[in-house]
Amino acid sequence: MYNSVVDDMRKNKVLIVYTGGTIGMVQDESGSLKPFALDSIYDAVPQLRACDYAIDSVTLDEIIDSSNMTPKMWVSIASIIEHAYDEYDGFVVLHGTDTMAYTASALSFMFKNLAKPIVFTGSQLPLSALRSDGRENIICALEIAAARQVVVPEVCIFFENRLYRGNRSTKVNAENFDAFASYNYPSLAKAGIGISFKERLVLPMPTEALQVRKKFDTRVAVLKLFPGIGKEVVGAVLGAKDLQGVVVETYGSGNAPTEAWFIAALEEAIKKGMIVMNVTQCKAGAVKMRQYAASCDMDRIGVIGGGDITIEAAIAKMMCLLGEYPDDKEHVKLRLGQSLRGEMS
Ligand code: ASP
Repeated sequence: MYNSVVDDMRKNKVLIVYTGGTIGMVQDESGSLKPFALDSIYDAVPQLRACDYAIDSVTLDEIIDSSNMTPKMWVSIASIIEHAYDEYDGFVVLHGTDTMAYTASALSFMFKNLAKPIVFTGSQLPLSALRSDGRENIICALEIAAARQVVVPEVCIFFENRLYRGNRSTKVNAENFDAFASYNYPSLAKAGIGISFKERLVLPMPTEALQVRKKFDTRVAVLKLFPGIGKEVVGAVLGAKDLQGVVVETYGSGNAPTEAWFIAALEEAIKKGMIVMNVTQCKAGAVKMRQYAASCDMDRIGVIGGGDITIEAAIAKMMCLLGEYPDDKEHVKLRLGQSLRGEMS
């Protein structure tokens, strides 16, 4: 069923899951980049035939620009890995950079007790381009997924020399090769002449069996604050039909307007059963509820502090917990405030 490129029973085995993204794109008649089939990757990276691990590959039914990624596709990617889990030593997911941090975050919450590496990578230039960053990214991601000396039992992103924890990563640049950053947690490895791992930063190897969670509740929203935000806008977001949870993107260390109408709107939503989480707009640093008077009211009415979580991880975590515990909002709130997969300090 999988396209076998190199096979040798004595070697470690890695499965590539190809989802699309710039890495495999070609230009259409108008010059725009659009997704293309996987086969060309092996022609574009002939070095892969010489590596000392076996590689198989599988392509999602639909190859997409990652702007079209959905939770349903998160489940498809996770299911492929789950079914192949015992057969392979590691997994590489080729994914568009635009929503890679969301998918990597989502998979980190889906895989409990993960004991093998799942390494996401992609590129800023298609593999077919002369100066493509894709070749180096794929080769390093494969080396990490196949490594015997250091096994990273995490969902990660490898990009431009660095291995990051997936649920700590954010796309920060639309043009440079170093498109990702992890501001609140150091990188897990750096690729130079060799790949040097910072083992003490990697999550411990689990002792229990893998569990894969596949239910997501997408009835969530992000409410980004800005000076001048109006009652109607806040009301429209919080009043969205069936909304179950909202991430409020606040200022600095988790501050928001203290105006009575704003706090009342949040309080009313919480009383109706909505989950409200406070995540800072800052790229680095954490929400510290009650550090300023401007977050005391939110703490009083039951807004949950998101600590130093990224917005991508907060959304994926909220969807995953709401999907997993649809009838236990108190449990969802409790888990949102705790680090489940190293996503919060
Ligand atoms: N639009 C592309 C995607 O996310 C960008 C990329 O892959 O870098 O699929």
